[in-house]
Amino acid sequence: MNIKLLPEKCIAYGLCQTYSKEFDYDDDDDGIVVFANHDGLEANFPDDADLLLASKSCPTKAILSD
Ligand code: SF4
Repeated sequence: MNIKLLPEKCIAYGLCQTYSKEFDYDDDDDGIVVFANHDGLEANFPDDADLLLASKSCPTKAILSD
């Protein structure tokens, strides 16, 4: 599955990291979402229910998945 982050939509709500440890925060940017183990704003992962839940649960749709 492909995951894309839209940091301009992130409000640092923190929900995504509670569902998947693939998400983390950028301490230098007020807690805006980043990938924990990947550089950049887009990455491919094996299909993962927790990643999908994190994506679907983001209140501002800052995490796109397909
Ligand atoms: S759940 Fe959405 S708004 Fe909250 S930190 Fe994650 S990406 Fe940002």
